[in-house]
Amino acid sequence: MSDRLDALYRDIILDHHKEPRNFGPLQGAKVRHEGYNPLCGDRVVLELDVAGGKLAGCNFQGEGCSICMSSASLMTEDVKGRPVAEALGAVQDFRDLMQGKREPDEDSDREVEALAGVRKFPVRIKCALLPWTTLKEALEKAV
Ligand code: ZN
Repeated sequence: MSDRLDALYRDIILDHHKEPRNFGPLQGAKVRHEGYNPLCGDRVVLELDVAGGKLAGCNFQGEGCSICMSSASLMTEDVKGRPVAEALGAVQDFRDLMQGKREPDEDSDREVEALAGVRKFPVRIKCALLPWTTLKEALEKAV
């Protein structure tokens, strides 16, 4: 990864850490699910509004390291408003990215690609994955 891209990715992660999107309780939430990463102490609570096969709302709460909280914020922005099947696809796609099965798409306007930088720190990969794993479990509970 180029230094320029590295810096851009770091800025995106910091921005989501400082100003988390979709943070707090969700009005009209139909599903609530909690994920925990004992290795780091990260805790993520997701509240979802699933209606007509669509993930109409996705909010998060909790506390954890900056990687986990940024990942949760980036995830909610990425999946909110998409059909459930697509959201589940995004979870798998993100796993593939974190596990090195695919490279980040530098031309993509999806900010989640920024988390590819976390792969350089293998112990933090679990932190980045926690919100996504929690989302998958929550969606499976919802349908
Ligand atoms: Zn963590």
